[in-house]
Amino acid sequence: MLVDDFPVDLKPFLIPEVSGELGYDCLSCGARHAPDQLLYTCPACGGLLMLTDKKIARLQEKPGSFWRRLFDHRLMLNLQALKGVFTFHEFLAPNIPLSDIIYLGEGHSPVVKAPSSLANQVGANFFVKMEGQNPSASFKDRGMAAALSMLNYLVRIKNLDQVIAVCASTGDTSAAAALYASSLGQSLKSVVLLPKGKVTPQQLSQPLGAGATVFELPGVFDDSMKVVERLSEKYHVALLNSKNPWRVVGQESYAYEVAQQFDYALLDKVLIVPVGNAGNITAILSGLLKFHKAMVIDGLPKIVAVQSQRANPVFRFFRQPLGSRTYCPVVVKPSVAQAAMIGDPVSFPRLDVLSKQYEQEAGLSSFFVVEVDETAIMEGMLQANRHGLTVCTQGGECLAGLKAALGQGLITPSETAILDSTAHALKFVDFQNAYFEGRLAQEYGVTTKAELANKPRPLILENTPIPEPGQTLTGAQKEAFVEAATQAIAQALTLVEKV
Ligand SMILES: *Cc1c(COP(=O)(O)O)cnc(C)c1O
Ligand SMILES: [Zn+2]
Repeated sequence: MLVDDFPVDLKPFLIPEVSGELGYDCLSCGARHAPDQLLYTCPACGGLLMLTDKKIARLQEKPGSFWRRLFDHRLMLNLQALKGVFTFHEFLAPNIPLSDIIYLGEGHSPVVKAPSSLANQVGANFFVKMEGQNPSASFKDRGMAAALSMLNYLVRIKNLDQVIAVCASTGDTSAAAALYASSLGQSLKSVVLLPKGKVTPQQLSQPLGAGATVFELPGVFDDSMKVVERLSEKYHVALLNSKNPWRVVGQESYAYEVAQQFDYALLDKVLIVPVGNAGNITAILSGLLKFHKAMVIDGLPKIVAVQSQRANPVFRFFRQPLGSRTYCPVVVKPSVAQAAMIGDPVSFPRLDVLSKQYEQEAGLSSFFVVEVDETAIMEGMLQANRHGLTVCTQGGECLAGLKAALGQGLITPSETAILDSTAHALKFVDFQNAYFEGRLAQEYGVTTKAELANKPRPLILENTPIPEPGQTLTGAQKEAFVEAATQAIAQALTLVEKV
């Protein structure tokens, strides 16, 4: 839609100017640092940083109804920079000029209602937000769009060249980082560190295809993360892990979209989110709090964070009584929710702060963490996949988390849950195949249920001409083959011929 055709009162606000007063806040010493530099830890004390907007109050000067109308209308505006996560520019990273924004088709992923056949099995209605429909097939694109837009902006204003962007990854961060870096061409070199054998072949293919330099390291993600942290401390490289606070602001868009997709009525909703490095849950809490302060939403939804029993430091922290909680990293064991298989989440200090703020605003029964086992995760994924929902293993983890939360009475069947399927099912297809073939028992402790397994059936044709490679059949031979194959399939399916 053309700007001229929008309502008169919205026209001046449709295309946002640079605004706000962003800065890095240190969670340890409280120092504030200027935003026009790349910082991952506090230069004063080494603490973890969060981006905050000193002029956030300006967003509250307008009524919530203004923002709702503006964002809903903006969806009709054909301006690339505002098509993705920056639809919510004013709340997200308002310091970045639109001309520096990189858009590769991320964000605005569909929310799909679970079919009633599945809802009946689970015992509650629910929706799934299909984050696998992002360009690199996971939600990580949201944060990368923001981080790389910021980097693009800095490269321009500081005249940088030969920037090297690095990240460690459980598979999806590197896929997203490499993709967004590749869109910037020669000015940026993308380097990714992966724990060898701990990302799926599909995930490994992604940074390779995007032309990144890929290092495979021994150990698990937590080990690669330590190396990449050391690299960014000692050398001039741009860190693209969620330690980079721009990633977190980009991922706030998930919360803004959920709000928009439910007409800003979140009070009666439950958001279910898998937790690994805790960047996503942090971003979601932060986004919800901002939208709530500006009265864009009617209230704060309940949050259920989910972890696998085999990588559950966040669950272990929150199950301790309030006031006497201590944080302990865990040594992870192999988990099919491999993208969240993290024992020492980098964003834990952010989650600690934000979950407290959240509970202050929304009440003590607004934030829960549940743990689920590997079998529940696999069965959750397969069950969803059998009902039209292409969820990944972490999406399966959310479904398992929904069942656990219902079972423990943390939520009731009358509440509406929104599950975060953080990536596409196809990235994790090897876990599906391993399950089907009964290969998950030893390493993951998951035994295959016959009714959930599936395999292709060969068609054995005897005394019939068969098409061979490079040689198609013709005439009577082709006819004989088609008839024989049709017969064999009809027989297997016990079809009755039309009369
Ligand atoms: C990264 C990732 C997670 C975990 O998100 P965090 O922000 O690390 O907590 C979950 N699922 C998928 C598919 C991921 O790529
Ligand atoms: Zn500090």
